[in-house]
Amino acid sequence: MKALDRFEGVILGSAALACAGLCTLSASTCGLMLAAVIYLLPVAWWALSGAAMRDGTRVIEHSDIVDWLEVEAIALWPCVALSGAALTAKGNPTRTLRHERIHLAQQSECLVLPFYALYLAEGLIRYMARDPLPYDNMCFEAEAFDNERRPSYLRKRQRFAFLNYFTSRTRSRCPGNGDML
Ligand SMILES: [Zn+2]
Repeated sequence: MKALDRFEGVILGSAALACAGLCTLSASTCGLMLAAVIYLLPVAWWALSGAAMRDGTRVIEHSDIVDWLEVEAIALWPCVALSGAALTAKGNPTRTLRHERIHLAQQSECLVLPFYALYLAEGLIRYMARDPLPYDNMCFEAEAFDNERRPSYLRKRQRFAFLNYFTSRTRSRCPGNGDML
């Protein structure tokens, strides 16, 4: 009877180990797939769109996806997608590009995926806490809006500078600023 118990224990233990192994394997497979989507898809999008480098940034111009989202631009590390052209006579996209490059810096120092999670979590918490300007007051956006008109900002910026904006008061963005992600 004891031998049978031991045998059953070995079988049950092996089954448990196999289940744990399968779960770990499927979790890591899902993780790898998610990482591939997060890290490689923007580069593939940029490469397939035949876009160019602007001031050291991979820029996708006249993006249908950005138009569909009804925003001016979006930063998806390591690329920036714009609704219009990156360089025009008016120079407005220069500010937009600077705003998005601040987000690229935030994304790279947060290792990208955690940035998206923190961005969504902070926005949700501010919305649920009835922050009057949940989007503008998010630390990532507050840093970008505060410094998008300073050409030398990214050269002098300290790492994780967005942390200084966690407790910043309600602000209103500069006139003429559209929605940017
Ligand atoms: Zn932004």
